Amino acid sequence: MKILYIFPHPDDESFGPSPVMHQQLKQGHEVHLLTLTLGGATAERHKLNLSIEEMGKVRLAEMLKVKQVLQPTTWTMWELEDGGLTKMNPIILEDMVLKLILSIEPNIIVTYPQHGISGHFDHLTIHSVTKRLFCQLKDLQTGPKRLAFFTLPENKNGTGNAHTKHTPDEDIDCVIPLHDDDLQSLHDTLYCYESYMDVIQNYRVIEQLGNSISFEIWDENHKPFLTDLTDKIDN
Ligand SMILES: [Zn+2]
Repeated sequence: MKILYIFPHPDDESFGPSPVMHQQLKQGHEVHLLTLTLGGATAERHKLNLSIEEMGKVRLAEMLKVKQVLQPTTWTMWELEDGGLTKMNPIILEDMVLKLILSIEPNIIVTYPQHGISGHFDHLTIHSVTKRLFCQLKDLQTGPKRLAFFTLPENKNGTGNAHTKHTPDEDIDCVIPLHDDDLQSLHDTLYCYESYMDVIQNYRVIEQLGNSISFEIWDENHKPFLTDLTDKIDN
């Protein structure tokens, strides 16, 4: 199958989804990524005394290291304004994402849930854009058949920070167990982001995720949870 991950910033793919991508690649699936910005506006840039543009270059270089480690099928990197997705004309933004989806024709699309985990406005914007496009395309023969939201379940709270949002257990549809090599992939991809070490350690990202990754699935209900995003897809 073809799985397309859509995230606004460098590192979004590594703060949880990367071990699942690793597992899917290992299973022979195509894993495509879209990152919409270079993430230069992060507050972390002040510690390094870098301008938004300079920080964007640092993060692009880090993302290219992740590409080497993870080896996704394709990784499309755009240079839209970090923190600026809400300021864009939504018709233009949707049209850009639509063209990419049509060129890849994924079976599954993955993005952030409605709460965006961190609540970052770019995360909320990409959730809305992707959900609308999925609903528009799902009935086409070559359209995506499943929309999944990478999330943190409630039972893993107590970590992250005061702003971290969680999904209640009743809304979780898929929990993917991680094997040792998947966990290694999580570690290896996260640690490509040298400029983000403080955040990775302060948020206790690896500890917070534990040994499974959870997803909500739009307009589907699975109890018991699916253990693989490609299971039970309507075609
Ligand atoms: Zn982000």
